[in-house]
Amino acid sequence: MANVADTKLYDILGVPPGASENELKKAYRKLAKEYHPDKNPNAGDKFKEISFAYEVLSNPEKRELYDRYGEQGLREGSGGGGGMDDIFSHIFGGGLFSFMGNQSRSRNGRRRGEDMMHPLKVSLEDLYNGKTTKLQLSKNVLCSACSGQGGKSGAVQKCSACRGRGVRIMIRQLAPGMVQQMQSVCSDCNGEGEVINEKDRCKKCEGKKVIKEVKILEVHVDKGMKHGQRITFTGEADQAPGVEPGDIVLLLQEKEHEVFQRDGNDLHMTYKIGLVEALCGFQFTFKHLDGRQIVVKYPPGKVIEPGCVRVVRGEGMPQYRNPFEKGDLYIKFDVQFPENNWINPDKLSVSIRQQMT
Ligand SMILES: [Zn+2]
Ligand SMILES: [Zn+2]
Repeated sequence: MANVADTKLYDILGVPPGASENELKKAYRKLAKEYHPDKNPNAGDKFKEISFAYEVLSNPEKRELYDRYGEQGLREGSGGGGGMDDIFSHIFGGGLFSFMGNQSRSRNGRRRGEDMMHPLKVSLEDLYNGKTTKLQLSKNVLCSACSGQGGKSGAVQKCSACRGRGVRIMIRQLAPGMVQQMQSVCSDCNGEGEVINEKDRCKKCEGKKVIKEVKILEVHVDKGMKHGQRITFTGEADQAPGVEPGDIVLLLQEKEHEVFQRDGNDLHMTYKIGLVEALCGFQFTFKHLDGRQIVVKYPPGKVIEPGCVRVVRGEGMPQYRNPFEKGDLYIKFDVQFPENNWINPDKLSVSIRQQMT
């Protein structure tokens, strides 16, 4: 909500809000003489304030904006120019940043660009054996033709419509004394805060300062890496002028495996056996993640009860950064019982009778 009853600029000149052009001019001349830095070097910024107040109030358009919407109307509606931000904060306090909130562009120091996250799907085999893969991505790099300037030096101008802020504040009067304030991206500069004359624009990047480039990254997936682990390429994210590029971060996404489930460095699998095997011993082979055929033997006479788990030591996943150490493999036995009526009850009673006699 704008402060509609803002009279600060009139106060600076010592005139009432309804003052005529002549009154303003008179007041300004008198004060300007008095506070001119040559005559009054200790007056500080007083002269700047006076000049600014007069500049606004002597311009019918600006004065109208100021009278209706106060300081904020002025900030948005004025064409701007060098030094305006400073005088604004000086007179009205707070400065642009408090006004613009987090839309403000940092002007001191290099900002850091955003990190770019990409998921990278990997199979359990890849995580067991390790893998080097190439990843192709398109990213923004500074245009080499204009060194990221967008055109010849000096071609870039601050957008006058938004005063370089990239956004404009629309002020709508809802009722007398009540205004609504809306922010929108500046259409003159598309939110860039800068404009470049068509003829001065860099031909290669069309004034965008950056161009798309296809980049191929060599990604090393190390043995034992885990789901959710990050592989970081420092400073490889989008480039932009005056911005320190962020990182490209690959987020490993472990694909489900048909046979094995992973739990840390351990692997789990389920193997189905019949009742006869559970009672009389058995042997089976399975293919491990590195392609080896592993033989599992279970001697006759030792009973496998349904759902029991046996451990094969050292056949789990390799440890990250210590791949010769491995976790364990847990095999759960799913004993398949015969279905109901697996034998005709008549036959069964015969066989029981035979056994009893
Ligand atoms: Zn260029
Ligand atoms: Zn603009």
